[in-house]
Order: sequence, then structure tokens, then C-alpha cells
Amino acid sequence: MKKIILLTLTVLVYSSVFSQSYKSFFLPDELELSKDLPFPGDLQGYTFGEWHFSHDQLINYLQELSDKSERVTMWKYGETHENRPLYLLAITSPDNQEKLENLRSRHLNHVQNKLAQNPKEDPVFIWLGYSVHGNESSPGNASILTAYHLAATKSKEVKRILNHSVILIDPCLNPDGFTRAANWSNMHIHNTTVKTPYDRQFREDWPGGRTNHYWFDLNRDWLPAQHPESQARLEMFHKWKPHIVTDHHEMGSNSTFFFQPGVPERMNPRTPERNIKLTKEIASYHAKALDKTGTLYFSEESFDDFYYGKGSTYPDVNGSIGILFEQSRVMGQVIKNEHGELSFADAINNHYTVSLSTIRAAINMKTELFSYQQQFYSKANKLAEKDQVKGYIFGDENGKVKVYHFLKMLEKHEIEIYGLKKNIRINGKIFKSGSSYLVPTQQDQYRLIKSIFEKRTSFEDSVFYDVSSWTMPLAFDIPFTPVNNQRLMTHKGSKLEELRMPEGKIYGKASNVGYIANGNNYNIHALLYQLKKKGLLAKVATKEFSTRIYSKEYHFSNGSIFIPVNKQKIKPDQLHEYLEKLSTKYGINLVGMPSSLTDKGIDLGSRYFVPVKKPEILLVAGEGVSSRSAGEIWHLLDHRMNISVVLIKPEHLSRINLFDFNTLILPNGRYNYNEETTKKIKFWLEEGGVMVALENANQWLRKEDWISWQKKETPDENSSSTLPYGNRRKRRRINSISGVILEAAIDPTHPVAFGIDKNQMPVLKNNNSFIKKSSDPYATPVTVKEKPLLTGYLSKENKEKVENTAWCLVGKKGKGKIISFVDNPNFRGYWYGTNKLFLNAIFYGNIIR
Ligand SMILES: [Zn+2]
Repeated sequence: MKKIILLTLTVLVYSSVFSQSYKSFFLPDELELSKDLPFPGDLQGYTFGEWHFSHDQLINYLQELSDKSERVTMWKYGETHENRPLYLLAITSPDNQEKLENLRSRHLNHVQNKLAQNPKEDPVFIWLGYSVHGNESSPGNASILTAYHLAATKSKEVKRILNHSVILIDPCLNPDGFTRAANWSNMHIHNTTVKTPYDRQFREDWPGGRTNHYWFDLNRDWLPAQHPESQARLEMFHKWKPHIVTDHHEMGSNSTFFFQPGVPERMNPRTPERNIKLTKEIASYHAKALDKTGTLYFSEESFDDFYYGKGSTYPDVNGSIGILFEQSRVMGQVIKNEHGELSFADAINNHYTVSLSTIRAAINMKTELFSYQQQFYSKANKLAEKDQVKGYIFGDENGKVKVYHFLKMLEKHEIEIYGLKKNIRINGKIFKSGSSYLVPTQQDQYRLIKSIFEKRTSFEDSVFYDVSSWTMPLAFDIPFTPVNNQRLMTHKGSKLEELRMPEGKIYGKASNVGYIANGNNYNIHALLYQLKKKGLLAKVATKEFSTRIYSKEYHFSNGSIFIPVNKQKIKPDQLHEYLEKLSTKYGINLVGMPSSLTDKGIDLGSRYFVPVKKPEILLVAGEGVSSRSAGEIWHLLDHRMNISVVLIKPEHLSRINLFDFNTLILPNGRYNYNEETTKKIKFWLEEGGVMVALENANQWLRKEDWISWQKKETPDENSSSTLPYGNRRKRRRINSISGVILEAAIDPTHPVAFGIDKNQMPVLKNNNSFIKKSSDPYATPVTVKEKPLLTGYLSKENKEKVENTAWCLVGKKGKGKIISFVDNPNFRGYWYGTNKLFLNAIFYGNIIR
């Protein structure tokens, strides 16, 4: 790399000179370039390849390119949580640009085999996606270099490429994280280049720029689609159905470069074999291009393509070829690593090189890619014909809000959904028309549907880069069943065209006594919080009851909320009006009670109705805490439930008045406090505080002897045996638990399980903590059952270890309560089943006796 001297005072004047130097570093001298188009950095006053472009600068540059070049169009397709725009570019020949929409719709007809293709005329669609992990900056920066190359190069090769392809560029999939990381890198750039890996420029502060606003890994969200970035992108993906999708990343800073294929035996079996063959053929183009510069690389190890929620894997189950690239990390300007020195410009250059090699491969392999994609869909329909499972029925009369969220997710994946013509009893479950749905397997998305609904417990390999299972209706805790009988498919009702959040209403007349909302609604805590925020009196039913009102029977579960009319600070008609508003907004039905007397169970004046306090929540978020665990909680409370939460740095707990709060949440993490702070927290707890602790946070509480947290004894492995050294890594990973779904016994009479209405539910196990049940018979509301495996990979040893362990435990300290979750109830935002337990812990922790 050519040496660049930084002149701090004259950067602007000299920037074009620097750019010129960098331009020749990146682009071969013989390339004839359009003089009308600016090189990245020319307009920004930034030396491209030396400074990290922020998201705004990327977009400004691309906007300029699209304004000036006939080959480039660009449009906004969505917004992030922080209101940053998400953009997609289409780069192709000016001729193709003019008929772009036509080319797109022809292409979709090809995909569905409605139209024969002509490889001489029809373009191949290539999607290049960069920096889904925001602090992996070299991909995002490479995106604009790639765009420049395609827009500015006058060569015959590029003209041929543009005639034969439509190149879609998503320059940055995670603008919020990318901006955090760019700021971090730039604010630590030295005048004298510092390359030592522990310099601040290479070490971000918590939470870092990898994740989005709520600290979620967007490269796991392609399937759950819980975030606006993924939701908008999925729409674009299905609108274009590209033949190839690239996914550009950075990995550890002592690595080299990786391109797919990944570990062959860790491929998802739903991905066709031919996908792997084509990926390998495409890989030969990357190899050739990187060999030219002597860049070292590897493939077929470390990374896999099993979990369909990643950017390189989701395309594989959607008729595209997904390709992962991983570049050794730079973060600052130049870093010393085990292989020597690596500059940010080198890293950009590698991503740019493989972007171009992907395009070259796509052009040369056009005919094969066309036929692969068509066959993918025609074969999906044949596979569906052979499959005994003809569809999946799911639904929950009492869980319409949760079902709505589930339907919304399915809809993002272009899965066809139908209603039911009439009620069906199948496999011991009743599915009611109006609240249940049918997804037939005979449709284009056959493979994805199977992957979302099926339970799998046998695997070719036992090592997983990510979770081994993600059966979605289990995570959402929605009753579902496969349909094996073709005859039952005649119950298929009309196709679901428009999805709407269910609206609630108030049943019965305006009441003198009060109103009841059933605790089984997913949004019950959102409603309750609003009531408390307004200073209204609300009580939770700690026992179930039922009553007949105007000849209709109503049953209310534990955890139902009673809002009395009397003694409120607003008038009865104002209360009615306010409740009507809330019930519509949150999709919760309320019942106006004509009397305090109920037919069965507790009456409304009973002491089993316990007043609920407004939770004043502190959430510990900072160094030592898992940002993902904290982010999932923040997102659940703040974004989904509209519940206010104060994020506090761990070290600030010693400085504030804890008594301004009644709830302290400790996400998964490492905690350690000095004697004085520990004493302060202990005093707060003993005076009636509620603590909710997740996973490893409980280690600290155990150390302080505040909870009983005992490991279940398990027979030790035979330590005298000798094993092959070469297998040690794999062996270690075989026994680590990667996202399995287990069946747990729950006690619906316990405040932690209020509103669940049954005795068991699916829970996630994603760690190796095996904790004994409490010696207090009332203090383990959630226990892993015997033979609990519902889906996923569990080693034989772990199968025994996990049986009968606690999944959630409750402890007491003075007047205070500690609710300990052994595993994660809020995983990736899509565990709508167990996150209700977590919300219960926050709202009802203080009423546990
Ligand atoms: Zn990454």
C-alpha cells in the first residue's frame, strides 16, 4: 500500500491528491474511467480507505453517483429504529434501466415457471449486501467502491456485465450500528498511525456497533423479522428474488479471508445439493481473483449454513445462492496481526475484489443460475406432493394478539395463509374458525414452511454455529398441528389478504362495579402499565373465576386484571372512555361487570384480587452485561410494550437512590460489586425490592448467598480416557447446547405463570446451566420435564442432565423477591411464549408470598 501522509490543516486542499493515490491503490491503472463521476471521498473531504465513512457519507456519495450516472438508480426502502434511511441501488446498462420494472416482472414470471427464459437477453439478478454488522466497516466502505467501479468504468467487460445483469446493492444493512462504529473508529484515529491491536481505535466501548438500535444482531433476524430493518429488506428481497445474494462481514483480527462454501456436513438438509455445487463453482472465481493479489483465504471450515435466519442462509431456502464473506478485522486504519500488518484499505479491497468476482461468476454461470432457481421452485412443489404433511393448522382463540404477530412474520416470507371454513378437532386439539389458520405445504415456500413448522431431533452433524432449532409456533407458544389427511384440506377457507392487528372492545354495558381484562392476552402488561401510568387502581386476580353475563359464560384466568369504577381519580364515564381506547389499541377485550358477585371462584371484592404497583424499572446495561440480553429486554419493554425503563450503567448503581425504583433487572452478564454497593443493594432488596436475574447474573446472587442456585449433580466424564487431539474442539462443542426447545412443566397458579392457562409450555435451552429445583416446593414455577426434547440437538449426556432441572426459580430476601431465569425467556425477540413469564416476574414479583 502506498504511504499516505496526513496533513491535518490542509486535508481539504490535498484530499483529491490523496484520493488519487488511493484510487490507484484500488483500481488498476489501465482502467478507463468516466471523469464525470467523483471517486469516493472526493466530495466528502475524506481520504477513502483511510477514514471510515459514516452512513450519511455513504448515502450522500451514492446519491451523487445515481444523480450523475445513467447506469445507477437508487431508492429508499425503509427506515431503521433511529430513522436512518435504508437504500437499495440498481446498477445496470442505461437500456436496462429504462425497462427495469419490466425486467423485474419478467424475472418473477421466470422464477414461477410462467415464462421461458432467454439467457441471451434476460439479465441475471445479483444482490450485494454489506455490513449487517455495523462495526464490520470494510464491507460498507467496499460497497461504494464497487458501485463506483460499475458506474464509472468504460471497459468492454463492464459494459457486457451491465447488459447481462441487474446488480442490486444494499450498501449498509445496519445503518445505526454502522454509524456508531464509524464514529468510534474516526474519533480514535491518530496523526501518527498506531497499529497496536489494543489501542482504543480497535476496542469499542459497550455496546459496540455490531448490533442495531436495540442491540439485536440483525444477521439472526432474517427469519424472526422482528425489526424494521429486516422487515423492509425482506420485502425488497422477495420483490427481486435475486439469483445470488452476498453477505459481507469481518471476523477476528488474526484471521485471513473466508468465502463460502462453509462446512459441508453442516449444511441445512433443506438446501438443495446443487446449491452447494454452484457455491463451489462461484468460489473458484473468488479464489482466482484473490490469488492474483496473493491474499490468503480459506473455505469449507468454521462457518456453516444451517440456521435460516442469517443473510447468507436465508437466500438458500428462497431459491437464491447465499454467499458469506468474512474479512480479518481492522476497525481503525492499520492493525498489526499474526500475519503481519493489515490496513483498512486492504480489507475494503478484498471485499471489492470478491464483489466483482461474484458478478463475473454470475454472468458466466447465468444459464445454470436461471435453471437452478426455476428448478428450486418446481422441485419444491414436487417435494410438497410427496410429503405426507399437507399443511399446518394453528391458532388460539385466546391468543389473537400473539397469533397476529406470528401471521405477520409468515407474511414477510411470502407464505400463503388461509382461514378455516369451520372448527376442526385434530390430534386432540380444537381449532376454531375465525381464530385459526391453515398453511398448505403445496406452495412455492414449501421448504421455508417446513423449516418454520417442523420439529427435528436427528441431525447429520452435532455441531452448530448457531441454534439447532427454531420451530416458530413453539417459540410463540401457539397450538399447532400438521395435517396428514388430504381430506382435511377441504376445510381450507379463503386466503388471508390483509392482516390487521385485532381490535379489542368492551363487552356489556358501562359498569358501576368495574371491568375485567383476561390475563391470557399477550398485551395484558402493556394495558396494565398504561393504567398504572395514569395513576389508576388495578388489581390482579390471583385465582381464576367465571361468571355468566347476559347469557354468555366468561372464564377469567389467574392474572386477569380488574379495574374498579369506585375510588378512581377519574369519573366513571371517563374511565369507560379511556378503557375503550386502550382495549382498541392493545387488542384486549374487557368485560363490564354488572355485579361484584361471580358465579364461580372469587368475587370482585375478594382479597385474592391484589392491587398492582406501577413498576419503576432499572435495567442494568453496560460493560460486563450481555448487550444482547439487555437489548432484548429493552426492546420488549420499551418498543413492544411501551413500558418505560431506565438503563443504568453497572457502576452507577452505587451512586443513585435505589428507592426511586422497585424493580431491578440484571440481564445475562458478569457482576461484581464492592462491599459497600452490595450492602446498599441488599438493603433495598430486603426492604421489598424485586430483582429479576437472567442466566449468569444469578452467579453473583449465588455468590452473595441471596439465592439457592445449586448445580444438579451429574456423573463425571471418564477422565482417564485418551481421546484424539484433533477432535478436541469438535468434542467440546458437541456437548454445548445450541438453541434447543424443551417442554417445561409450569404452575399456572404461580404469579410468574399467570395467564398461561395450561400446565406445560415450550422453553428455550441455549446454555449449559443445569440447576436444581428449589427445596421450597412453591418456588420453582417452571421446571424442565422428563424426556423434554421437543426439537433441536441434545447430546445423550445433556439429555440426562437437563431433565427435572429448574428453568425459573423464585427466592426471597427479607421483604424482597428474586426471580431467577436459568435460561433466556426473551431470545431474539420472538419467544412470545416465555417473555410473558418475564413480564409477569416484573409486574407480579412483589406479590409472591
Ligand atoms: Zn459479521
